[in-house]
Amino acid sequence: LVPRLRGFGSNIFAEMSALATAEGAINLGQGFPDTDGPAEVLEAAVDAIHEGHNQYPPVRGIPVLREAIATHQRNRYGLTWDLETEIVVTAGANEAMTATILATCESGDEVLLIEPAFDSYWVAIAMAGAKPVAVPLTGPDQRVDVERLAASVTDRTRLIIVNSPHNPSGRVFDADELEGIATIARERDLLVVTDEVYEHLTFDDAVHLPIATLPGMRERTISISSAGKTFSVTGWKIGWACAPAPLVQAVQTVKQFMTFVNGAPFQYAIARGLLLPPERFEQIRADLQRGRDLLVPGLQAAGLQVLPSQGTYFVTADISPLGETDGHEFCRSLPRRCGVAAVPSQVFYADPYPRPLVRFAVCKQPEVLAEAADRLAGLN
Ligand code: GLN
Repeated sequence: LVPRLRGFGSNIFAEMSALATAEGAINLGQGFPDTDGPAEVLEAAVDAIHEGHNQYPPVRGIPVLREAIATHQRNRYGLTWDLETEIVVTAGANEAMTATILATCESGDEVLLIEPAFDSYWVAIAMAGAKPVAVPLTGPDQRVDVERLAASVTDRTRLIIVNSPHNPSGRVFDADELEGIATIARERDLLVVTDEVYEHLTFDDAVHLPIATLPGMRERTISISSAGKTFSVTGWKIGWACAPAPLVQAVQTVKQFMTFVNGAPFQYAIARGLLLPPERFEQIRADLQRGRDLLVPGLQAAGLQVLPSQGTYFVTADISPLGETDGHEFCRSLPRRCGVAAVPSQVFYADPYPRPLVRFAVCKQPEVLAEAADRLAGLN
């Protein structure tokens, strides 16, 4: 392995899932649902296979999916994208993000990101030979530090990665934070790449605002999302990027030599899913919120301090009230101690020194979360 990729060998999700299996624990580590998504979406995939949609789809994705993505973006956010030139389908949001970074960053360029940041971003930046410059969320409310972000821009800065709703914190960045980031991007002529895979999964009164909707941002933003989280089909790996034509062309240039194309029948199924009526999306959102509300009392009864989660599959808890300081140590022992697995938030930082924050997934069936809450309550 080349030196710049050493250190990325172990994967926290694999480590904690293996531990959960070995200990027979409820796995609230890796974020994946334990039920499959809407029946009509699942059936649409089966139909597509039987209808013979099993060969290479177009590199940009099948036209009906690009059309559904465009319709969804227009109806939900008022963003319009040209079907032929401004949308590319990818193997999950992950490929869209990696292809974007490889397509836009030269060796030595800097990429600004907000810490904690999802693990694959760091690896994609390293693959490009670029340098991550991380600005942590600050304060008890885990907000974007816009001033520090602005002060971190240099002549080598090329991209800002904006992931909202944010994994692992569960923050949904508000208009002030996003406007602050947008101002930096406009003033310093930077590209923004987003990860909006939890766009539909927001809680209470939190509202997801795509940064591409802000003035002057559509032309400099690569907006990435995917279907896996929304429709509980994380194994299907259907994602997409929407951006002005030259940026989509750049992303596609890399994408076509990574996976070329992917998931032909699933693309048909997701086209169906994206056109489901708004009340179905609301139902998916509300179900997940109920999951959060089932787990949080268990964490609190165990003596953990739960940070507010405004969206995503996750809640974060501070373990310091238990006298614990190292989230990784805590997560290594948790399956044995109480039969629940989680992941330490410190793995989402450039410097993974011990931190007392632990991430729990809430995307599980109510009875599973209720059982997990019971088990956790027995921790102290
Ligand atoms: N996105 C999911 C999570 O954060 C799964 C990531 C993975 O397994 N690579 O848990």
